[in-house]
Amino acid sequence: MLVFPGRPWYFPLTRRLSLRTTEIDMDPFTGLDYYRLDELYTDEERLVRETVRAFVDGEVLPIIEAHHRQGTFPVGLIPRLGEMGVLGANLHGYGCPGVTEMVYGLIMQELERGDSGLRSFASVQGALVMYPIYTFGTEAQKEEWLPQLAKGEKVGCFGLTEADHGSDLAGMVTKAVRRGDHYILNGSKVWITNGTIADVAIVWARADEGIRGFLVEKGRPGFTSREIHGKFSLRASVTSELIFQDCRIPRGNLLPGTEQGVKAALMCLNQARYGIAWGAVGAAMTCYDVALKYAKARVQFGRPIAGYQLVQRKLVYMLTEITKAQLLCLRLGQLKQAGQVRHTQISLAKMNNVEKAREIARMAREILGAAGIVDEYPVIRHMLNLETLYTYEGTHEIHTLILGRDITGLSAFA
Ligand SMILES: Cc1cc2nc3c(=O)[nH]c(=O)nc-3n(C[C@H](O)[C@H](O)[C@H](O)COP(=O)(O)OP(=O)(O)OC[C@H]3O[C@@H](n4cnc5c(N)ncnc54)[C@H](O)[C@@H]3O)c2cc1C
Repeated sequence: MLVFPGRPWYFPLTRRLSLRTTEIDMDPFTGLDYYRLDELYTDEERLVRETVRAFVDGEVLPIIEAHHRQGTFPVGLIPRLGEMGVLGANLHGYGCPGVTEMVYGLIMQELERGDSGLRSFASVQGALVMYPIYTFGTEAQKEEWLPQLAKGEKVGCFGLTEADHGSDLAGMVTKAVRRGDHYILNGSKVWITNGTIADVAIVWARADEGIRGFLVEKGRPGFTSREIHGKFSLRASVTSELIFQDCRIPRGNLLPGTEQGVKAALMCLNQARYGIAWGAVGAAMTCYDVALKYAKARVQFGRPIAGYQLVQRKLVYMLTEITKAQLLCLRLGQLKQAGQVRHTQISLAKMNNVEKAREIARMAREILGAAGIVDEYPVIRHMLNLETLYTYEGTHEIHTLILGRDITGLSAFA
């Protein structure tokens, strides 16, 4: 197992402070539930959150730093995610538990409190692979894939981005040409989470009739994937390139409900963005919690640095922004559960919560001084991970443009 042998979660380098992330302070008034949101959650919501929290504390935190260092995803945790029912948790039937949107959000928050790579795995599997099969697939496709994906027996990936078409996804050039009862796929996708470990890829390609989603199984002749190395962000996650060279797939692999084209792909992204809005709060919570404990314990000029106004200003800003982000998520969850959420509301929450989490992680790193740049504390890992959140699933700027268009009626995209 990839662990730092014999080391507690935090260990002394010079005269380090003994802090444990497992003791996250959720106390109202002093901790991370400043507005007592717990009182607004149901017993089920709290129970699931505590279950995932215990899993992250017990099984993720002890190994995640080593995976981050080595640039590997903890694949051994995939069956555990399946057992806990967190993969495609908000879908109904086909082996999925059908939890509420609030429960789903809290799961994403807790997974990302551990690591963004872990939450990204669950987001891709649930929101970008299971959701499109569930929403756009045939009954046979659902029965074949969803139960195995829910259990973590199979892994999926979502191939939308291309080297020359990132934000401008409608410009994609990957082609699916119809030949009798088959399609021939040609093109490539890049930056694909889970790509090299996936048993099935949801691939978006340009067919004669428009952009469509296809199921492409691992091992199909003409389909290869390779891992992208050298990342400084989301290191505990597999990111890959998918290559299709005259890859022949049966017509039955088309997801028939994707006839809306790009809109269908955007519907999937909306599901994932909802999870990111919650997940970013989890990453911010860890950074704040560590920074607060560190500041109270770290003595400089004869007293804890938490006693200095400049440090307090940062801590207060962090808690204020976390509380605001938690409130956004709560209301977003209510609207989504009621089937009333607008995609622009999801954009606002993704945009805001990721931006604030990114700032919070940076402030936490500052508060830790030199200790903030080493991976014995989780802060630098979250700070680096948040760079990916800022960019994927619609960059910060693209969400700004989505909202700008919504409130002015004028598109500033091109
Ligand atoms: C670790 C990781 C995992 C990923 N996982 C997946 C995955 O599983 N599946 C998948 O399909 N994709 C995935 N992506 C890709 C991701 O969604 C894209 O990186 C993202 O959409 C942005 O595309 P781009 O990187 O090509 O940037 P570009 O689109 O080239 O943008 C570059 C910059 O220009 C800005 N910009 C672009 N257009 C405008 C405009 N009109 N106005 C103002 N500014 C603009 C952007 O905001 C950005 O700052 C992943 C990316 C990363 C880093």
